[in-house]
Amino acid sequence: MDTFLNLKNLQMLLSQHNIRPRKELGQNFLIDRNVRNKILSYIEINKDDIVIEIGPGQGALTGVLGEKAAAVYAFEKDEKLAEILQQRISTLPEIKIIKKDFLDIDEIFFRSIKKPVKIVGNLPYYAVSPILFKLLDIRHHWNTALVMMPEDVAARIVAKSGDKNFGLMAFLFSLLTRSSVCYRIRGSAFYPEPEITSVVMKISVLDKPAVEIRNQKDFWRTVPKLFIQKRKTILNVLRNSFHISRETASSILKKSGIRPEMRSHQIEISSLIELVENITQATPLDLAEKKQ
Ligand code: SAM
Repeated sequence: MDTFLNLKNLQMLLSQHNIRPRKELGQNFLIDRNVRNKILSYIEINKDDIVIEIGPGQGALTGVLGEKAAAVYAFEKDEKLAEILQQRISTLPEIKIIKKDFLDIDEIFFRSIKKPVKIVGNLPYYAVSPILFKLLDIRHHWNTALVMMPEDVAARIVAKSGDKNFGLMAFLFSLLTRSSVCYRIRGSAFYPEPEITSVVMKISVLDKPAVEIRNQKDFWRTVPKLFIQKRKTILNVLRNSFHISRETASSILKKSGIRPEMRSHQIEISSLIELVENITQATPLDLAEKKQ
């Protein structure tokens, strides 16, 4: 059953329940059915698939996902919206509305699912970055995601090294996924109309990272520290983030083939990986320096 509501029916339902869209929860509902159809055309879902939907709202996508998939688990943080949608889909056993913040999804949930899922969501603007990092965190549990987000966030995912937008997000997404922008959506497709343009992104998890990561634990601990002071030279970033001397930092950079005056966004991904390895393989003396 298609649970999509056009503007008139959505407004009627919201006013019946005395609800106003909550900006603080990023509630911009999709109200253009043609746009909805176009969005869903970018992902293949069949009866073997289990789908997790992030923020179903009032079901603009949910019903169709339920028609196509074996099961849909829809995580909705707004309890009232979740209850109303639950009542509307009560005859559809394949759709489970979970009254929960998607950011709280955990291993216990995935243990019950047992196979990689597909992720779909018109993401709430206020939480796009944490949700994207969460998706990377749980990447062993899904293979394809189709997500809507503001255009500027998408630009930070697909940026190449050298671009001003290249940062931790682009580094991790290019290392761990294949991501592309499929479609731009004008603000008038949503109610209330947002001031920004949204895009649909398709993200596929790579079977293994694009460049080999030898020491996983050190890698995840070290990488974010390289991107926190974007305007500083990489020499100073190393000195500040790892509490090492200028000499040690210079020699690590030399070994990694990186010029000390570069900024982290200018460094190629493979050189960044080598840099991380050289930092973590620093001499025992340097390790002692790190602890200071
Ligand atoms: N999917 C619906 C649509 O396209 O019309 C609603 C999309 S709206 C942009 C975002 C939805 O995510 C809202 O229903 C909001 O309440 C919900 N939401 C916000 N933060 C959330 C979170 N952390 N976890 C789960 N849902 C969330």
